[in-house]
Amino acid sequence: MGGTFDPIHHGHLVAASEVAHRFDLQRVIFTPTGIPWHKTRTTTPGEDRYLMTVIATAADTRFEVSRVDIDRDGPTYTVDTLRDLQSAFAAEHAPDTAEWFFITGADALADIVGWHDPDGIIERAHLVGVTRPGHQLTDPGLPEGVVTMIEIPALAISSSDIRTRVAAGKPIDYLVPEGVSRWIRKHGLYAGDNS
Ligand code: ATP
Ligand code: MG
Repeated sequence: MGGTFDPIHHGHLVAASEVAHRFDLQRVIFTPTGIPWHKTRTTTPGEDRYLMTVIATAADTRFEVSRVDIDRDGPTYTVDTLRDLQSAFAAEHAPDTAEWFFITGADALADIVGWHDPDGIIERAHLVGVTRPGHQLTDPGLPEGVVTMIEIPALAISSSDIRTRVAAGKPIDYLVPEGVSRWIRKHGLYAGDNS
């Protein structure tokens, strides 16, 4: 599951958990982006986003976090994420019989045809689009069988709303895991944020 995770919130965690259950996944790897190519605001340092993602997922044995995108220079493209994860996995597992899924919310799925090398993405992973309040879960017009769309319990939480709330001094309790809100407070993240 790719994302900026700026910060990670319970919407991300519910999506990952629900898809893991539906597809009987052994693990879900969260990959916080490097420089998000489609986002214009100055993003929080990768190290903060990575560590908040680790804190949020630490207690779940199905979840892990990868640094592949944070550690790669330049903008993050999903096709590179998949390629790097898959070659690292193949180096450790012989024979490599893994099946790969890429989890994304309805809003991000709608953009997929605009993503860098959509054919490369489709070759490497089955796409799973999950419902997200405020966004229509429409078929993105991809070839038959490359994407499965599923309904998940609705949580109208977004990272942008969390950043705005922090900047306005509003509570973010229960929108993000407690360790994440503590990290935000401890490091003064989003204090002057206006996005
Ligand atoms: P921002 O508001 O900064 O765009 P975000 O909340 O959309 O942040 P991202 O890091 O952009 O979070 O999202 C990563 C992935 O998680 C995307 O595929 C997105 O669609 C999905 N996602 C985010 N929030 C939810 C949610 N509440 N329910 C379902 N999917 C979500
Ligand atoms: Mg988003």
